[in-house]
Amino acid sequence: MAFLSGSPSKDVRDKGLRLFRTGCVKKELDTDRRAHFVVQGETDKHSVIFDKARGMWSCDCKFSSMKGRNCSHIYACKLSIK
Ligand SMILES: [Zn+2]
Repeated sequence: MAFLSGSPSKDVRDKGLRLFRTGCVKKELDTDRRAHFVVQGETDKHSVIFDKARGMWSCDCKFSSMKGRNCSHIYACKLSIK
């Protein structure tokens, strides 16, 4: 699998895989330009948006905004659209 913005760490991939496998990823909206997902994490729900035009992912969790890279929620959503 190739990632556009750096490779997530093993922890992030493991957690994302677990979220995906346990059915925590729900697609809310899918248009030509964007896809919206809701991911039920261990404590909170997170909104993940995929900007199709720019090929960019974003998430509202602290990990994503602080580190500026892919979190487990984004990783789980990527798995769900493969
Ligand atoms: Zn996140």
